[in-house]
Amino acid sequence: MTADLSLDIAALAEQVCAGNRRALARALNLLDDARESAREQAARFLETLAGRSAAASAHLVGMTGPPGVGKSSLGAALIREWRRRGLRVGVLAVDPSSPVTGGALLGDRLRMQASTEDDGVFVRSLSNRGEFGGLSAEVWPMSVVMLACFDVVLIETVGVGQREVDIARMCDTTCFVAQPGSGDTIQFLKAGILEVPHILVVNKADMGDVANRTRRELASSLGREHADGGWEIPVIATSATRNEGVAQLVDTIEQHRQALLGRQSLTSRRSSYQAYWLLKRLGGEFGSYGIDTLGGYDALARELQDEALNPFTQYAALRARLLKQFNNEL
Ligand code: GDP
Repeated sequence: MTADLSLDIAALAEQVCAGNRRALARALNLLDDARESAREQAARFLETLAGRSAAASAHLVGMTGPPGVGKSSLGAALIREWRRRGLRVGVLAVDPSSPVTGGALLGDRLRMQASTEDDGVFVRSLSNRGEFGGLSAEVWPMSVVMLACFDVVLIETVGVGQREVDIARMCDTTCFVAQPGSGDTIQFLKAGILEVPHILVVNKADMGDVANRTRRELASSLGREHADGGWEIPVIATSATRNEGVAQLVDTIEQHRQALLGRQSLTSRRSSYQAYWLLKRLGGEFGSYGIDTLGGYDALARELQDEALNPFTQYAALRARLLKQFNNEL
């Protein structure tokens, strides 16, 4: 099989920017296609898209938390609220390759609850195939495409640990959803994992006292000021099933975006997500030795952020440089 030679890259980019869902699905499939010829087309597509899209005004929101806390229910409630406000919403639902939920996958559960006939909502599932600390390898390039197409892009993922860190490094605003009465959450806080999210959410607030207690515990265990600076981490109580606290969560997500915009443009912030993605990927393929060979993490991250190229071209160049260096050393 070869890549689709009839693919008109410019037309595809145009259609994606116009919000055409079929074109979007086609573009996402192209990014997910590992064949060499498809990689070249994908790089060209991203380059063309970058010149046309208004992605800088869209908001990339991450939502994460343990299985069963209500992420898909809350995701669906958030989508309804964003739609009520007239915003178009795209979702990337990243599932672990061996589902810990034992049931339907995140994207399917979300789809069942969200209105999928609505033209302004698009849900795409991604499996992580065990790579990238739990986030799918294509999550960043796919986010770039979704941002060209929607006002809000929500990345949902299951789990706690490295995935929280990854998602927070590649989203404008990250929400961590906690379970009432779960001692785990406090443990994560102590381990420093919860310093990463910008907003903490205690869902199932309808459970009453136990939810209130967790909210108080979370609020009192926080270091308050986010490491990004200029933002105090709020704890929001929601009930996805009763649709309570959802509008407040949407307001808070927007407040965080405004706080970010007050400090720097989202475009420059996003080049740091891309650098993180590239180095994570390089580390996955070549280990820390590969990164050290090219000058070390910090120097490389700065260099990559300044380049402003599409992620596939940038990765190919990085890889070629490293292989050349290896060859010279042989
Ligand atoms: P996920 O695994 O984090 O995506 O969680 P789900 O959205 O699938 O929800 C897990 C279970 O919790 C389901 O039975 C939901 O009906 C229930 N649930 C979700 N949100 C709420 C809520 O706000 N209150 C209550 N009481 N149950 C909820």
